[in-house]
Amino acid sequence: MKKKYTLFFTIIFISSILFTSCAKKEEPSVTKENYLLGTIVQLTVYGKNAEKAVNKAMDIISDIDDKMSPSKENSEVSKINKNAGKAFVKVSDDTFTVIKKSLEYSKLSNGAFDITVGPLVNMWAIGTDKARIPSPQEIKTGLNLINYKDVILDENTKSIKLRKPNEAIDLGAIAKGYTADKVKETLIKEGVKTAFINLGGNIVTVGNKLDGSLWNIAIQDPLKIRGEYFGIAKVSHKSVVSSGNYERYFIKNGKRYHHILDTKTGYPSDNGLIATTIISDNSIDGDALSTTTYVLGLDKGMKLVESIKGVEAVFVTKDKKVYTTSGLKDSFKITNEEYIYEKGR
Ligand code: AMP
Ligand code: MG
Repeated sequence: MKKKYTLFFTIIFISSILFTSCAKKEEPSVTKENYLLGTIVQLTVYGKNAEKAVNKAMDIISDIDDKMSPSKENSEVSKINKNAGKAFVKVSDDTFTVIKKSLEYSKLSNGAFDITVGPLVNMWAIGTDKARIPSPQEIKTGLNLINYKDVILDENTKSIKLRKPNEAIDLGAIAKGYTADKVKETLIKEGVKTAFINLGGNIVTVGNKLDGSLWNIAIQDPLKIRGEYFGIAKVSHKSVVSSGNYERYFIKNGKRYHHILDTKTGYPSDNGLIATTIISDNSIDGDALSTTTYVLGLDKGMKLVESIKGVEAVFVTKDKKVYTTSGLKDSFKITNEEYIYEKGR
């Protein structure tokens, strides 16, 4: 968790310097922070209705956390997992939407993105004090339980069932993105025109900065300590989401084991990429795609992103090469010269 804090503060720091420096005096602002969705969430909202809007948004985040957290015993996700192989569980529209969208990304990526990775996530327990390398037999068992086609949706009753016992879903790769979109929607409904939403590094901006200029979003340098960035993306009214091997990991015998799992091997994804960033209109897509492309790797990941209209990406490889989609050439800048810009593929 500590790790997430630093990236979060970097992004906020840069953005807030630029933000406050241009804030109109008469425009009130409210910043609130909370620990939700397993991370630090921070909302900065401008305008007369800021206080009320922020409070409403925080309530929404807390409600989604209660529904989707795999570690809360009474969450909808926990209920689905407990009833695996047994029964359908009726869920809220929020959970139904996120699971349905997850299955779309599973199909699109041929299973590289798969929320039924739950049993393996639990075995590795990365990011907790129980993190460890599972035995080859455990990995085999976990792999046998991964299959997004075993998530059965009943559209009429908004119910969900996992086909086999011990299967489990984990929405860690997509829930923050969905929530960030809901927060944006709520703020806009409350009349907010300018806001900066940060759900543990899942960034969504509402409008432009107060002076009308674009936001500058710092992107974490995957090879440096938390808080150091290697590039800046200029955006307006967009979502910026990163995935990387630096977010949650442990080191054993000099090797780093991180939290994004390759659904084919059961081990942390290791295909040359160390960070992916997705810039998109909706954060649910950005969040799903940052994880998906990380697992797919450079070539397949780039191909997938280029095939989706309105979505841009920045990928970083182990050897410090930076690849971007063609639409990003004017809005992304490398700030650390150790990185080599390779353009699109
Ligand atoms: P993110 O930080 O958005 O890239 O999501 C990583 C989180 O998603 C992990 O901590 C796991 O909870 C979950 N996860 C890991 N590997 C996968 C995968 N291949 N597909 C879907 N979710 C995953
Ligand atoms: Mg993700």
